[in-house]
Amino acid sequence: MPGEVDTEDYADVWVFIEQHDGEAAKVSWELLAKGRELADEKGERLVALVMGDSVTHLAEEAIERGADEVLVAEDPIFEPYLPGPYGEQFRYLVEERHPDVVLIGGSHTGRDFAGRVAVPTYAGLTADCTELDIEPDTGLLLAKRPTFGGDAMATIKCVEHRPQMATVRPGVFDAAQPDPDREGTITEVEVVVDESHQRSRMIERVVGDITDITDANVVVAGGYGTEGDFGPVEDLAAALGGEVAATREAVEEGWIEAARQVGQTGKTVKPDLYIACGISGAIQHLEGMNDSKTIVAINDDPNAPIFDDADYGIVGDLFEICPALTELIEQKRG
Ligand code: FAD
Repeated sequence: MPGEVDTEDYADVWVFIEQHDGEAAKVSWELLAKGRELADEKGERLVALVMGDSVTHLAEEAIERGADEVLVAEDPIFEPYLPGPYGEQFRYLVEERHPDVVLIGGSHTGRDFAGRVAVPTYAGLTADCTELDIEPDTGLLLAKRPTFGGDAMATIKCVEHRPQMATVRPGVFDAAQPDPDREGTITEVEVVVDESHQRSRMIERVVGDITDITDANVVVAGGYGTEGDFGPVEDLAAALGGEVAATREAVEEGWIEAARQVGQTGKTVKPDLYIACGISGAIQHLEGMNDSKTIVAINDDPNAPIFDDADYGIVGDLFEICPALTELIEQKRG
């Protein structure tokens, strides 16, 4: 069968360090933390891979954040990002070095080129994972992700092919913290791509003005209970210096942009404080926020399920409670 391999020939957990303009995407450090755990569990090394022009500082940071070795492919051809050169270079390294597990952020970039590595190497790729584990008996990667439109969770394992690849949703793991005393190896690898791999051209890079809610320390979310009036939610978020988020109901009603949806089919957030206003607490919503440090729920129905997951519950009308909280916070701030 094409791509069938001797799995014993494959070792190490690889994490792709995504960068733009020399700055690493946060999901890369999240994957490095999870990758460290998986590598330790499997008794393998954690290897990071950085591609770009002048990216040595990221290789050093990857070691501080847990990598044993960092493979650096440095060349102007990797700037700006294009799927052709990234996919081809990554494919070459996989075929040359035989990693056991490869983790890539489920960002626009990661989703764009992961398939270009998986298809030619016959790897097993599970996209958009929200959990990763190691199967105790076999040491196989257990890649978990929502399936059937979010109605069920699937656990996918790749038994016969290598590497075991996964793209992982940003925000589901805590980022690895740097330890300046950590030591590791930086290896410059041969760059095997040239202009012939640039089958597309970057004409312009437009960065949207939507703030990434996954980075916010405070998130104030509104649901169907807002009846389309997000004013009190926005005011409370502004008073707390936080971001506004929403349920799928609110997004589907067109009350707020889809980039702010939290939940199984939206973003995963883990802020210090999550305030849910007029949100019932459906399982699909909870999945995107129930790892928040402190959850406050404001709901006029004392039996709303959100109260089961909240640290603090306020039973009442959000149109009275949100403005009262906002006023109190502003008063305290003077
Ligand atoms: P409701 O369930 O209608 O709750 C509104 C709440 O507001 C009620 O509890 C009510 O008591 C309260 N309320 C009303 N008026 C007031 C008031 N004045 N003051 C205070 N409280 C008030 N949902 C998501 O959020 N994210 C997802 O990613 C997501 N993915 C899904 C994927 C699938 C496959 C499916 C089937 C569903 C998904 N959903 C998702 C939808 C989810 O099941 C719920 O329907 C949705 O989360 C409910 O949104 P809500 O809490 O805003 O609305």
